[in-house]
Amino acid sequence: MSIERASPLRTDPMRTPAAPRIVVLGAGPAGAAVARALAMLGYAVQVVSDWRRFDAVEALSTRVIEGLRHANLHRAASCAHGPCVRTTLWNGVLQTLNAEFLVDRREFDEALREDMRSAGVDVIEANVRTLQSSPDGHDLMIETGDGPFSLRADFLVEARGRLAPLMRDATRGPQTLSLLNSWDGQPGRAACAVESLPDGWAWMARLPDGRCYWQMTLDVACAELPPRNELPAFCARMRHAPLASDFFAGDTDTDARLYARSSTATLCGRTGADNWLRVGDAALAVDPLSGNGIFQSLSSALQAPAVIHTLLSCPERAPLALRFHQQRIEQLFTRFARTGRDVYALEQRWAARPFWETRRLWPDDEPSQSSADFSQLVIERAPVIDGDLIAEAEVVVTPDQPLGVWHLQGVPLAPIVEALRKQPAEQVLKSLDAEQARMVRHWLSAHGYPQPSA
Ligand code: FAD
Repeated sequence: MSIERASPLRTDPMRTPAAPRIVVLGAGPAGAAVARALAMLGYAVQVVSDWRRFDAVEALSTRVIEGLRHANLHRAASCAHGPCVRTTLWNGVLQTLNAEFLVDRREFDEALREDMRSAGVDVIEANVRTLQSSPDGHDLMIETGDGPFSLRADFLVEARGRLAPLMRDATRGPQTLSLLNSWDGQPGRAACAVESLPDGWAWMARLPDGRCYWQMTLDVACAELPPRNELPAFCARMRHAPLASDFFAGDTDTDARLYARSSTATLCGRTGADNWLRVGDAALAVDPLSGNGIFQSLSSALQAPAVIHTLLSCPERAPLALRFHQQRIEQLFTRFARTGRDVYALEQRWAARPFWETRRLWPDDEPSQSSADFSQLVIERAPVIDGDLIAEAEVVVTPDQPLGVWHLQGVPLAPIVEALRKQPAEQVLKSLDAEQARMVRHWLSAHGYPQPSA
C-alpha cells in the first residue's frame, strides 16, 4: 500500500503556498548540517534516513568539533569523548601525536537527529527504496516501520554517504576495504592509535566503558585476503602486530564482531543540477587514513545551503551556483587525495608492496602545497558565498587556493593585490584599521609579497 505522507510539519507564515518542498536523504553530519541550515533559512525540510547498521567509533579533531558547533550541531559536538592520546607507529617511528576526540557513531547520529529536530526539521526514520527524478521533481518510495510511504520533493539533497548510488562518471581511488572488529574489554581511559602493516594499516580505539575497536584497511586485491568465512581468523592474526598487541594488552578479544565496508576514495562526478545537490560522502568520500571524513563532509555541506537557496530563489544564477559547488567538491577531493598520498609515501619499509606502491603514486605527482610567488597571483571573477547566496566577485587566485580568496575577515583582497602592483604597501593599507592591516600583511608575506614594511 502506498500512503501519501502529510505536508511538512513546520509552518512559516512568511512562506508562500508554492514554497518548495526539500527532502534530504541521509541524516549523517552532511545531511544534518544542510537540513538544519535550510530550516533556518525558512524552508520546509524533511530528512529521510535509515540507522547505521553497525557499531563504530570514529576520531575527530578539535577542528571538526568547531565545525559541528559552527553548523549549530551542538548536541553532536558534545557527545565526543576526549581529548585522548593518539599513538602512531608509522615507518617504524613511534610517536604520540596530537590529541583526538572519539565518537560512538550511534550516539553521534542520534545527537545529529536531535539537533535537526530542535530546528524544526521533520526527521523520518525510513529506508529509501526507490527514487525517480525528473526536472519537475522527485518521487520517492520509502519504507518506515509502519510500511511504505510515497513522498514527493521539489528539491532533493543526496546525503546518503557511501551508500548513495554512484554515478557513471565517478572517479575512484585504489579499491580499498576496511575490516572492523569490535569487542568488550576492560573499562579504562579513552585512547586511539594507528600502525602501518605490510599490506595496509590499522586504526584502533578504546572507549572509557571498555568497548574496543580495531580496524584494518587494505587493498581489495590483497593476496593475503582470505575468503569471507576465514576473515575473523585473519583479523585475529593481524591484531598481533606490535602496537595493537600493546594497545589491547589484557583484553580478551575472542568474541570480536566483524564488519567489512568499502573505504575507496570516491568523487561522484556531477554534483548537482537545478533541483538536486549531492553533499558529504555522497559527493566525495576520502580515504579514512586522513581521519578527516567528517570534516570534509561538513565542508561540502556548509556551502550547500547557499547553493540551494540560490538555485531556488535566483534561478538565473543557477550555472554560477552549480559551478561553485562542483569546483569546491573537486578541489576538496584532490587536496585530500594528495595529502593521503604524502602520508602513504612516508612509510618506506614496504614501499614496493602493492598496497603502498599504489597509494604513494595516486592521484598524481603534483605537490600538495606550492610555494607562493606574489607576481603569480591572479585576479579573476569567480563564484563566492555572499551572505545566504552565491554571487560573483573578484577573487585572488593562488597556487594553494585555485578557486580564489575573496575576503580576509571581511577585507576584500583583490583590490589590495591590484593596488600593490602600482603603489607601496603603506599607501595601500592606510585605510585599514591596525588589526586588519596586520592580518593583510601577514597574508601578503605568506604569499611571497616582498617584505611589506610595518
Ligand atoms: P554518513 O555519515 O554515512 O550518513 C549517511 C546516512 O544515510 C546514514 O545515516 C545512512 O544510514 C543513511 N542511508 C544510507 N542509505 C540509505 C537509504 N537507502 N535510505 C535511508 N537512509 C540511508 N571520518 C572521521 O572523521 N573520522 C574517522 O575516524 C573516520 N573513520 C572512518 C573509517 C572508515 C572505514 C570509513 C569508511 C569512513 C570513516 N570516516 C571517518 C568517514 C566518515 O564516516 C564519513 O566521512 C562521514 O560519516 C560522512 O558523512 P555523511 O553525512 O556524508 O554520510
